[in-house]
Amino acid sequence: MTKNLLNMSLEELESALLSLKEQKYRTKQLYTWFYQKHVTDLNQMSNISVSLKEKILQNFEIKIPEITDISRSLKDNSYKFLLKTHDNKLIESILMPVKDRVTICVSCMIGCPLKCKFCATGSQIGFIRKLDQSEILGQIIAINHYAKENNIAQNISNVVFMGMGEPLLNLENIEKSVKILLDPNGFGLSRSKITLSTAGITDKLSDFINKYRIKLAVSLHFSTDEQRSKFMPINIKYPLKKLIEELKKIVLAKRDYITIEYLLLKDINDSLDNAKQLIRLLDSLKIKVNLIPYNPTKDFPATSASEESINNFAKFLRSKNIMVTVRRSLGQDIEGACGQFALKKN
Ligand code: SF4
Repeated sequence: MTKNLLNMSLEELESALLSLKEQKYRTKQLYTWFYQKHVTDLNQMSNISVSLKEKILQNFEIKIPEITDISRSLKDNSYKFLLKTHDNKLIESILMPVKDRVTICVSCMIGCPLKCKFCATGSQIGFIRKLDQSEILGQIIAINHYAKENNIAQNISNVVFMGMGEPLLNLENIEKSVKILLDPNGFGLSRSKITLSTAGITDKLSDFINKYRIKLAVSLHFSTDEQRSKFMPINIKYPLKKLIEELKKIVLAKRDYITIEYLLLKDINDSLDNAKQLIRLLDSLKIKVNLIPYNPTKDFPATSASEESINNFAKFLRSKNIMVTVRRSLGQDIEGACGQFALKKN
């Protein structure tokens, strides 16, 4: 199989070019085109010689997912992108430009195996496969390229792994991608601009976050094992006690915290008793809670908590000195919710 240059680390790219009898500095030039200029078309790479372009075309491929549909939310100015992979599968990413902050929410799988009851991704698509480095970073490259060409934004400033799929079940490709996101020769993002969201897979959670010191969001949503296992089957394998123990191992810098996502469902998890349980559960952790009103889907016809319950829930948490935000729109939701994608056009 022809190797994709976008699936390589800097070192692997260097070996690939050395195998073509090219000078080492060419690696940096290509890397810059891919990750800083967001260009993958060899014809546009002005400082790459014709002979190298020919050698690359003969020996390797340069492939990222292709944008097939874009819809823009007039409510909050976010953009939803559908992208097609090399095997004609669709993935979804969201771009949210807000002044200087340009956030992209990327997918790490096609579908998701975790089947959370409230999530369109798990219930409507099922699980097809994991995305590789070129497909994960390719979403950022393709969308950043589009954003520049269309004067939406210059450079993406924040990346959140909150799209389709569970990042900790695709850790190898997430790790390769995070390295290039952090590399000053790659995307050059600072660690605080990258957020990984998990439904609570604990195996390598603290090791990974402590190693790269990126931000963490946990899609918790329920404060008892009984409820959580009912709506998020992954909780059976990784119950709350195990999850909280793992979260305690995360070393946070002074200003850092763990974001706890909490989807508010009417008469299910929106009472003040639920808020009290949540506080007891998270007692020993440095957290911020994101409260997320629920948008009903046909597969999970629960209703969102009322405005009044959301406000009361938030007020109660704040009275216990917990930082709280309430997410209300799609663009904002992408920072607060895992999944929720079902490959639909707006
Ligand atoms: S909420 Fe997240 S972890 Fe759960 S099924 Fe959806 S994408 Fe997967």
